[in-house]
Amino acid sequence: MTHEILDHIVAGRRHAEAGSTHRTNQNPATGDTVSVAPLDSISAASAAVDAAAKAFPAWSETPVGDRIQFLFKYKNILEAHVDELAEIVVEEHGKTRAEAIGSVRRGIDCIEHACAAPVLMMGRTLPQIAVSSSFCRTEDEGGVGIDSSVDRLPLGVCVGITPFNFPVMVPMWMWPMAIACGNTFVLKPSEKDPASAVRATELAQEAGLPPGVLNLVHGGPDVVNHLLEHDQVDAVSFVGSTRAGAAIYAKGAAHGKRVQCMCGAKNYSIVMPDANRGAAIDGVLGSTFGNTGQRCLAGSVLVCVGDSADWLVPGLVEAARGITVGPGCQAGTHMGPMQDRESLDRVMEYIGIGESDGAELLLDGRETQRPDSGFFVGPSIFDRVTPSMRIAQEEIFGPVLSIMRASTLDEGVSMVNTSEYGNMSVIFSDSGHAVRRFERTVQAGMLGVNVGVPAPMAAFPFSGWKNSFFGDLHTNGEDGARFFTKARVTVRRWI
Ligand code: NAD
Repeated sequence: MTHEILDHIVAGRRHAEAGSTHRTNQNPATGDTVSVAPLDSISAASAAVDAAAKAFPAWSETPVGDRIQFLFKYKNILEAHVDELAEIVVEEHGKTRAEAIGSVRRGIDCIEHACAAPVLMMGRTLPQIAVSSSFCRTEDEGGVGIDSSVDRLPLGVCVGITPFNFPVMVPMWMWPMAIACGNTFVLKPSEKDPASAVRATELAQEAGLPPGVLNLVHGGPDVVNHLLEHDQVDAVSFVGSTRAGAAIYAKGAAHGKRVQCMCGAKNYSIVMPDANRGAAIDGVLGSTFGNTGQRCLAGSVLVCVGDSADWLVPGLVEAARGITVGPGCQAGTHMGPMQDRESLDRVMEYIGIGESDGAELLLDGRETQRPDSGFFVGPSIFDRVTPSMRIAQEEIFGPVLSIMRASTLDEGVSMVNTSEYGNMSVIFSDSGHAVRRFERTVQAGMLGVNVGVPAPMAAFPFSGWKNSFFGDLHTNGEDGARFFTKARVTVRRWI
């Protein structure tokens, strides 16, 4: 079956422009073609920015209370389309149905959070901050009072560049808050699985969003670079790898844009000997192998402190052996495929690297029983990994766990802190003292305590540190509204 090249969405309408190169995407469970995305439609990107710039004056003047009415409507439409969107995610990304539904629901959480824009955008006022010395009359002859306030105003045209691993949710970290704050938006979804973002954007138009407020343009790095250089683009929100994020942050800043880049990760879990054993095994297992390890909050390194390894390592290997690998649409599947052939090859290569670096391969995902077609690999567990090994330092972004051992909590934390990344870290322990010491000394921006995946709910910022984030204001939480608005201070005197 041949597939048409996907349309962009510009000014509320489908916009056909194939460009000269495109990417053919496969269903990762079967290898069948599911979409063809244009990679270099530069003039479509320009048309999307023009449409957003044209829509900005009226949209930014629309009262915020009216702007969020659209989001309330959109949320209800999405509630009725959760299954449909999740099905597309399963088909183009490979998640299990439960993971896909969960990811759409977390996107809906962001829409609910954006409905708080009237409060989040609110400014501050301080009356009588000073008294004007040049007028010594009035105000009971004490001088004219001066008031000061700060307002938060929309920026203009904002761009979102998103990764493949949460194709519905991550765009919703960005555009609902951006438009609630009065901006207009151009989304550039991942070229690897763009169909679910297209459907979610179409549904936004059905909710009655004025044309041009939300646009979608397909593309790869050429389109991203065009958007970063475009005069009419004011801000760029990026989620993806550290490599792309570092380049986008530098280029966007050089072109005068406000930029936030949520980037790659290598996350460590620490398990203390006093931890609840069931919770630790479940937590580490879910964190490492959930979403087939394709998650920026995947706990891909485990530090066993003291004798916790005695029960934890065999417990994990046994539990991981019980993971059923198969198509995400099939009941009973615990772990779906990697998203594409390239990702599968990368995981296979890292298993080889771990072996040749001398780590002990306790469970080999290459040997797991799995379907013949598609991009499947089973869970892998390496023990006796040392901090300098590549499988301890580099983001594999697949179902591979590297286990290290430490004699004390402090030694474990110092292993965590060798990482160039600082997205998240978690501890499993029943000791308040140990947990507090972990919280005080570990270098990561999102922490979990007896929680395997400490994903912040939308009301809190997604707070990576070190090479997991470039910028100042993070996505979501109050940061989200601050990122998508600029402050203006007014000093007033009435004579
Ligand atoms: P990626 O960096 O390859 O692609 C992300 C986006 O950037 C895509 O839209 C892509 O078209 C664009 N892009 C890629 N290379 C580019 C370049 N050289 N110049 C300009 N644009 C470019 O990332 P991915 O493989 O889609 O996603 C996986 C990565 O995303 C992992 O590293 C993961 O940790 C990270 N991630 C981070 C977070 C977070 O919040 N920190 C969340 C999800 C995913």
